[in-house]
Amino acid sequence: MKNVIAFCILTLLFSCNSSAQKNNAQIEKEYSISKTDAEWKAQLTEKQYYVLREAGTERPFSSAYDKNYEKGTYHCAACNTPLFLSEHKFDSRTGWPSFDREIEGNVAYGTDSNLGYSRDEEHCATCGGHLGHVFNDGPRDTTGKRHCINGAALEFVPSE
Ligand SMILES: [Zn+2]
Repeated sequence: MKNVIAFCILTLLFSCNSSAQKNNAQIEKEYSISKTDAEWKAQLTEKQYYVLREAGTERPFSSAYDKNYEKGTYHCAACNTPLFLSEHKFDSRTGWPSFDREIEGNVAYGTDSNLGYSRDEEHCATCGGHLGHVFNDGPRDTTGKRHCINGAALEFVPSE
């Protein structure tokens, strides 16, 4: 009888363990680029890490990209995925770079993940880096959306 109980406990422990491992694997699979906190810390500046990996918000009017109207593409500062086009950028006067739409498929939203983000949160679909939030008070003549993005999460690549 003792042996049977021991076997049951062992089985239970083992199955708990294997399901926990499965969950971790699923989380890692969510993003095609995934690194440890230490790896991101080594790669990113302090400000980039704070925004992208800790979902922080930079001070308004602190990013040079806020008033950047050059033609080009805004890439993810962590993994270089193109996220926004300059032609969709507008001056929201909020102090953060703002776009009326994203490059479709390259940005994911809080509802798409199980990370406890709010609905309006947006992040890079490739590496999971936090970008900013989307609001419904954007330009009415286009999409009506205002993607309010931290400049620290972006890397501007001018078009040639
Ligand atoms: Zn990224």
